Amino acid sequence: MTQPLAPGSVIGILGGGQLGRMLATAGAELGFDIHIFDPDRDCPAGRTATRVWSAPWDDNGAVQGFAARCDALTFEWENVPTSALDAAESRAAVRPGRKSLELTQDRLVEKSFIREAGCRTVEFAEINALPELVAAIERIGRPSILKTRRFGYDGKGQALIREDTDLASAWAEIGEKPAILEAFAPFERELSIVAARTQDAKIAAYPLAENRHAGGILRVTTAPADVSAELQANALQIAHAIGAGLDHVGVFAVELFEVAGELIVNEIAPRVHNSGHWTMDACVCSQFEQHMRAVAGWPLGSAEPHSACEMTNLIGADVEPWQELAAEKGARLHLYGKRTIRAGRKMGHINRIFPLGGQS
Ligand code: AMP
Repeated sequence: MTQPLAPGSVIGILGGGQLGRMLATAGAELGFDIHIFDPDRDCPAGRTATRVWSAPWDDNGAVQGFAARCDALTFEWENVPTSALDAAESRAAVRPGRKSLELTQDRLVEKSFIREAGCRTVEFAEINALPELVAAIERIGRPSILKTRRFGYDGKGQALIREDTDLASAWAEIGEKPAILEAFAPFERELSIVAARTQDAKIAAYPLAENRHAGGILRVTTAPADVSAELQANALQIAHAIGAGLDHVGVFAVELFEVAGELIVNEIAPRVHNSGHWTMDACVCSQFEQHMRAVAGWPLGSAEPHSACEMTNLIGADVEPWQELAAEKGARLHLYGKRTIRAGRKMGHINRIFPLGGQS
């Protein structure tokens, strides 16, 4: 156990997108100086931080210079190149650690880990060539989903295999890259649990949230989800098993399918997560503050909700009526400072707040 970082210490964040921006803001509120490393000097997080370090990810000298200036480091996305992580780790402690990244950067490794941690997943198979896909479909059946093992997010690098889908086309669609074939989960709902974990294995978990996606992108999160105490307890067990298996320090999220009243793990995000944005306005302590507390070695705050919340992502042109959104009572608007609107780009989110138990 290392000593807690005193206020005024420097926490570095690898990556300067909206998650980095909200982490930087939360860290500043706890009295830390936040430094951001991102190839784009004008990145969203950079404009809310004490200092931006800008260089390509493969400039190890620049990453080391940045890390040497920080008392602790964290990251806002799981695809930080391993070389950058090596360079950073040579100068300062990175939290969460390498295990959290290595076990979640590759969907096949991740699903195997989830099973070893004692949690349920859909049936899956490793695919490296078309004949393997043909054989795996015999076992797993249709519908199923073919996903690239690496660098998939928001539904990218995925092909749905229906009754009539030609397998060669599906294989071509994902670029013939190393892949995983997953059985399609006939879920009633998509849920997620966001939790924070400290170096000494203490966990503070938020209640389950219900998520609605469209086109592979999260649109709306409703929280706390309307679930039984049993399902909530089951989700907490899953968070404990996965947090311990990763030896995670910081916030992580587990995306779940509810199938016939049971929870199946879809994937793990080893970082703050879009489905936890509701905590900013409906919980005593937000996921961003919890993460910075864990990284700094501070005690976690309370993850109790004081309100219910419907979080809606503002994607692309959704952000254009910002004046109307800003005028809504009972809502808080969060904009990410991105310079240009693009289709599919997350521009901000709005948290609509309700009394606990009183959502529509
Ligand atoms: P992912 O990139 O794995 O988070 O997938 C994005 C979205 O695709 C999920 O939130 C689900 O809506 C859907 N999806 C992914 N995998 C499956 C699956 N095995 N069964 C059913 N739906 C899935």
